[in-house]
Amino acid sequence: PTDLNQLADEYLRLAYQNLRAKDQSFTADLRLKLDPALGQVNIAPQDMGRVLLNLYNNAFYAVQEKAKGQEGYQPQVTVSTQANGGKVELRVADNGTGIPQAILDKIYQPFFTTKPTGEGTGLGLSLSYDIITKGHGGTMEVESREGEGAEFVVSLPA
Ligand code: ADP
Ligand code: MG
Repeated sequence: PTDLNQLADEYLRLAYQNLRAKDQSFTADLRLKLDPALGQVNIAPQDMGRVLLNLYNNAFYAVQEKAKGQEGYQPQVTVSTQANGGKVELRVADNGTGIPQAILDKIYQPFFTTKPTGEGTGLGLSLSYDIITKGHGGTMEVESREGEGAEFVVSLPA
């Protein structure tokens, strides 16, 4: 049993610190809305940690990219958890570049990446998807509008 709230919080700080270590001028608004009634989830912390890091790194990348071209833009990454009947939901939302409609059905494919060589392997989401769905009987969904941001929703049995 893993405390998802604690893990979600810890890894968000970790991912943010990693990024700031490379680019000290970068700042983002981090928002955490954690459901105190979430309870524990049956997933090894290292597995859930990989999923969280992949989602967080993607979100930070997307806001960083958007920040390059836009004066006065305030990067935001919002992480929330919610107990929902027999399920536990985790949402990772960003107000970054978003995902074009045309590639939405490809992002879970292994090696699919839109990032330059050396910056992306295209394995993050494919691995995360497998951990959540095949590994733990959960689901993973995405909603995005190009230019406005993306939201990933992970649902696991409570
Ligand atoms: P990688 O990050 O190595 O490219 P992923 O499997 O993590 O591989 O993601 C695949 C692709 O999905 C990314 O290259 C990007 O085009 C898109 N993507 C994933 N998350 C986001 C996000 N939060 N915002 C915009 N695009 C995203
Ligand atoms: Mg990635």
